[in-house]
Amino acid sequence: VEAVGQGGSVRPVDYKRGEAPPVPEGAYEPERVQLAAQALCLRANGYQVDEGALWFAGSRRRVVVPITEALVERTREAARELRAAVEAARLPAPLVDSPRCNGCSLAPICLPDELGLLAEGVDEKVELDERLERRLVPARDDGQPLHVLTQGARVGVSGAELVVKLKDQELGRASLPKTSQVSVFGNIQVTTQALRALLQAGTPVAFLSQGGWFYGSAHGMPHGNVFLRRAQYNAIEDPEKALAIVRRLVLVKLRNQRTLIRRNAAEPQAALARIDAAGISAKTAPDIATLRGHEGEGAAAYFSAFGSMLKPPDKLAGFDFHGRNRRPPTDPVNAALSFGYSILCREWATVLATVGLDPLAGFLHQPRHGRPALALDLMEEFRPIIADSVVIGAINTGELSAGEFVTRGNACNLNDAGRRKFLQAWERRLDTLVTHPVFGYRISYRRTFEVQARLFGRYLLGEIAEYPPFVVR
Ligand code: SF4
Repeated sequence: VEAVGQGGSVRPVDYKRGEAPPVPEGAYEPERVQLAAQALCLRANGYQVDEGALWFAGSRRRVVVPITEALVERTREAARELRAAVEAARLPAPLVDSPRCNGCSLAPICLPDELGLLAEGVDEKVELDERLERRLVPARDDGQPLHVLTQGARVGVSGAELVVKLKDQELGRASLPKTSQVSVFGNIQVTTQALRALLQAGTPVAFLSQGGWFYGSAHGMPHGNVFLRRAQYNAIEDPEKALAIVRRLVLVKLRNQRTLIRRNAAEPQAALARIDAAGISAKTAPDIATLRGHEGEGAAAYFSAFGSMLKPPDKLAGFDFHGRNRRPPTDPVNAALSFGYSILCREWATVLATVGLDPLAGFLHQPRHGRPALALDLMEEFRPIIADSVVIGAINTGELSAGEFVTRGNACNLNDAGRRKFLQAWERRLDTLVTHPVFGYRISYRRTFEVQARLFGRYLLGEIAEYPPFVVR
C-alpha cells in the first residue's frame, strides 16, 4: 500500500509475475477485482482509496486501475458468488480446455484436465491416443524429500535452508522451499525453529523408528476441508459405496500383482491362474469380508511365485525366499519387503493428510487404534509396482547384499547401510516417469500418489463417477 499525496488517500499495489495483458482496461477482470477487494478492505478500515495499481514484472509495466462503482459492484458480486460456493460445500467445476489453467498455481489441486477427461467417461478398451484428443500435461512437482538416518543428528534451520548436523559437523543442507517432506529415522532431533518453519511452509515431518516403523507425522494447520472428511465418513457408513471401493481396490491390486508376476516370474502360469481366479471371484463377492478373503488368495498366489522373480540362489547367496512372513520378518527378502511397505505407508499417510483426507478411516483395512487404514487401502495397488519392484531390483542388481542385513533372534532387519541404499533405490523409483494409464501423460510415481489421492477425494465428493485405477501393463 502506498500513500497518495498528503490527504490520507492510499493506493494498494499488487505485483504480478506475468506480462500486462493487451486489453483496453490494462488488466483482466479477475486482476482488477482482486485489487478492488483490497481497496474495499482498506476503505473498511478508514482509508480513502480511489485507485489501485498493478505491477507486471514480466513486462515491467505499471497499470493504474480506478476503483469505480461498477468495479466495486462486480467485486461484491464475486464475493457473493464465493460465499455461495463455500456454503454449497462443493468446489466449482474447473474450466474446460482453458489456456488459463496452463501455469495456474491451483492446477495441481484443481486437476482441470483430469476431471474433464473423467467427466467424459473413460473407456479403457480404447487406446490412449484415441482417447486423448488434447494432450494433458501433469502439474509440476519440484519438491524432493529429505531423509535423515544418522543417529544423534539434529535438523535445524538457517535462513531458507534446513541444516543437518552431528554435533558440530555439518552433514548436509536442503532448500526449505524445495523440500516436499522430511523423514527422521530414530533418535534424531528436529529443533523447534526448524519444526515451526516446516509447518509454516506446509512441509510435513514424518517420524519413524530407526528400523522404519512409521510412528506418525506432524503437519501445519489443516486446511480444513471438513466436507471432504464428512464425505469420507459417510462413504464408510454406506455399505454399497464401501463395497464398491473395496472391490475396486482389490481388483486393481490383483491386476498389478498379475503384471509383475507375468513380466518377471520364472514359471508364472500356476500363480497367474490363481490370481485370475481370485479376481473373478472378487468381481461378484457379496461383501467386504469375502473380498478380503479373495485379496488374501491373490496375495498367497503372488508370493508363491515371488521368489522366482529373484535371481536363483547359485547366483545370489543369502536371499532365499520361502513365503511372506512379518512381525518380525525372519529373512532378508521379507525384511526388505516390510521396510518398503512401511515407507509406502508413510508416503500415503502423508499425502492423504495433505489433501485433507483422514488417513485413519479406511474401507478395506478395518479401523484399529493408530492404524492408518486409508493409507494402507490406497497403497494396495502400488505395493507390487513400487515396494516390491524396489526390493526385486535392489537385490537382483546387487545394490543390496546379504551384508546389509542384521539378524537378532529370529528377527531380520536392514542395517544402517542397507536402509540408506534402500532409500536411494526408493527415491529413484519414485522419480521414475511412467505413462499414466488413464490420462496418458508422463508423470513420476511420486506425483501420482497425490493425483490419485485428490481424485479419490473427488470421487468421495461425487464429482466423478469412479476412482480411476492405476494399473500397469
Ligand atoms: S486450474 Fe482450476 S483454478 Fe486454475 S484456472 Fe484452471 S479451473 Fe481455474
